[in-house]
Amino acid sequence: MTNISCIFCSIIAHNLPARFAGENEECVAIWDLNPQAPIHILVIPKEHIRSLHEVESSHAGLLQSLISLIQKLATEHHLDGDGYRIVSNIGKHGGQTVDHLHIHLLGGRQLNWPPG
Ligand code: AMP
Ligand code: ZN
Repeated sequence: MTNISCIFCSIIAHNLPARFAGENEECVAIWDLNPQAPIHILVIPKEHIRSLHEVESSHAGLLQSLISLIQKLATEHHLDGDGYRIVSNIGKHGGQTVDHLHIHLLGGRQLNWPPG
């Protein structure tokens, strides 16, 4: 299911341009337009799901695909040695600005904690 007013659905349908970083059957990965680290990739399910909060048990396979694409990309970009961070913002207080589930994959520098 796609949502015609959703930026990520449009990118997945190739109706909006993006720099693709990878893909598997259920997910795509694009380079973030406004990178916060040397490597900043968004891993996005092809299905329009609003956020991780809406994920259900029927999405178990999709979650496995998301994680396996994250692992593959992290390895490809040599982040597995020093480590990396994954983040998924949920709703207003979480700082979510695109209402289509996505996981930020951030790495290539020392990341700080706690987040802002
Ligand atoms: P969030 O604020 O957690 O919902 O993350 C949305 C992310 O999408 C932000 O880091 C934006 O920089 C990024 N973004 C928004 N539009 C695009 C786009 N057209 N292509 C790539 N990244 C985008
Ligand atoms: Zn969408």
